[in-house]
Amino acid sequence: MSPFQQAVFVLSAAALEQCPPSKGEIAFAGRSNSGKSSALNALTRRRRLAFVSKTPGRTQLINFFTIGNDRHIVDLPGYGYAKVPEATRESWRDFLGDYLRTREELRGIVLIMDARHPMTDLDCVLLAWILPTGRPVHALLTKTDKLSHTAAVQTLRKVRGELAAMSQNFSAQLFSSLKKTGVEEAEAVLGEWLGLSAESPAEKIKTPG
Ligand code: GDP
Repeated sequence: MSPFQQAVFVLSAAALEQCPPSKGEIAFAGRSNSGKSSALNALTRRRRLAFVSKTPGRTQLINFFTIGNDRHIVDLPGYGYAKVPEATRESWRDFLGDYLRTREELRGIVLIMDARHPMTDLDCVLLAWILPTGRPVHALLTKTDKLSHTAAVQTLRKVRGELAAMSQNFSAQLFSSLKKTGVEEAEAVLGEWLGLSAESPAEKIKTPG
């Protein structure tokens, strides 16, 4: 079983000091309605796991899920929601910026983008924040079931080109939460970031806890 299937909600953090101790985490970012919750649910094989982040009071917080062994998946607040007041938007920016810059346990960011309109201005702002931190980004171009195969492949090629022009640490793949396509490809990237692939079952038995 993939470790991502063991995901359990831990807490919602409103400030950096509220983030739980961790030995490694992967943050999911994306515009509101990009399909971020659905992608998290597809990866964890849960129907409703990430919708905890959408419950009242949690949408502006950083939501932590443990996948065991002190590793975490982190659901960052969706951005670009038009009805959010400017003051709230600013406080998200500060918190998100601090988290992305200073959280040492952060191994990489999964950027969820709707394959029909990827690389929006706000996605590029986020990428520009991440770039100086040297952290890797893996983009999931989701809802690809809504595109023809040819259009999806063309989009992937274009986005990969744009990301590669920014950083060699930026990558992308196609994904569909509806059809569950791209799940294993994404798991392989995330597993490597978290050092999960290096842990053989024998090693786990030798080092309990
Ligand atoms: P979030 O706001 O980024 O967390 O987005 P959601 O996961 O709530 O998805 C927003 C909308 O897009 C919902 O209506 C989902 O059913 C739909 N959606 C998400 N992923 C997919 C997908 O892979 N394929 C299709 N066809 N629809 C999707």
